[in-house]
Amino acid sequence: MVIQMVDVKSQYLKIKEEIDRGIQEVLNTTAFINGPQVKKFQLEFESYLNVKHVIPCANGTDALQIAMMAVGLKPGDEVIVPAFTYVATAEVIALLGLIPVMVDVDADTFNINIEGIKAAITPKTKCIVPVHLYGQAADMEAIMKIAEEYKLWVIEDNAQAIGSDYTFSDGRKVKTGTIGNIGCTSFYPSKNLGCYGDGGAIMTNDDALGALLHKIANHGQSVRYYHDVVGCNSRLDSLQAIVLSAKLPHLDEYCAARIKVADYYDAAFVSVDSLVTPYRAPYTTHVFHQYTLKVKNGKRDELKKYLDAEKIPNMIYYPVPLYKQEAFKASSDGLEYLENTEQLCKEVISLPIHTEMDEEQLAYIAEKVIAFFN
Ligand SMILES: *Cc1c(COP(=O)(O)O)cnc(C)c1O
Repeated sequence: MVIQMVDVKSQYLKIKEEIDRGIQEVLNTTAFINGPQVKKFQLEFESYLNVKHVIPCANGTDALQIAMMAVGLKPGDEVIVPAFTYVATAEVIALLGLIPVMVDVDADTFNINIEGIKAAITPKTKCIVPVHLYGQAADMEAIMKIAEEYKLWVIEDNAQAIGSDYTFSDGRKVKTGTIGNIGCTSFYPSKNLGCYGDGGAIMTNDDALGALLHKIANHGQSVRYYHDVVGCNSRLDSLQAIVLSAKLPHLDEYCAARIKVADYYDAAFVSVDSLVTPYRAPYTTHVFHQYTLKVKNGKRDELKKYLDAEKIPNMIYYPVPLYKQEAFKASSDGLEYLENTEQLCKEVISLPIHTEMDEEQLAYIAEKVIAFFN
């Protein structure tokens, strides 16, 4: 049986006609950059997220960088990030001469620990970047409260949780990425809303920030050839906008399909003592960008070898804490051990999950995984 970690092809075939037609239109008009398709997608995405401003850009890493440029951080300012995340989050911080301050995550949600944030705050702290890891939101209500108290910016890294809802304790429900001052996402092909190349977006409800973000992503200009601020060149191209506009109406279905896969795995592994299935926080919908198990009793690496041999795709997201990465040793300031982060790096393993998985594939994977522990 052929099983893929992500199956972008089968998903494409279901909406092929619309995508092919749109791509042909772009080819016919040759408006490859800033075509009307980009503006159209921007408006659709604003409406889906119920957010005032979406700024399409070239990728999720750029989105984070532009966001940090927009809130006016200065070299030496400290930015709090989780130590257990994809490198992009910390990379742009270091690139701008800012200091990434890495904080431990919770062992159950894999998201940034609230007490850890409080303990990391110094007079130089200017910003918190929560990452909604694997598809569920960090504890945003608590984070916004801390940000308000200490006057800090909040930039959400929503690259893995697009489509997820967050519910505040008063019952108010919003999309992740629209809670902090700025939200960032990626349309990398394997993300929950992926295009067919690189792409990203920034979102905000703040009008002034919205205008500034647009400007920074476009060489610091709002009138052509008049540059008010130092910016960069970060654009979503028209071909990618076609793909995103075709997929956006299906995003909720895609999320539901992922949740169904997760439900299947959860039920299948319930009686395997060495496996801890993903915790689902009550304040957010988990849209399962990844289905990530914790493997107890030091058996993770052995399980990985076994799955590789059985040709069942699997990934370790992430094998090394950020502060142990060669690139961040200098900027992580002597920090060398965060307990949950260290443990998760040794215990996590992600199984195939995508919108096109069928029961036969799931049964096969579950059977093989369970057989390993018997
Ligand atoms: C994918 C990802 C990014 C970066 O997105 P790119 O489009 O690849 O630049 C940033 N943060 C997280 C958590 C991601 O998963």
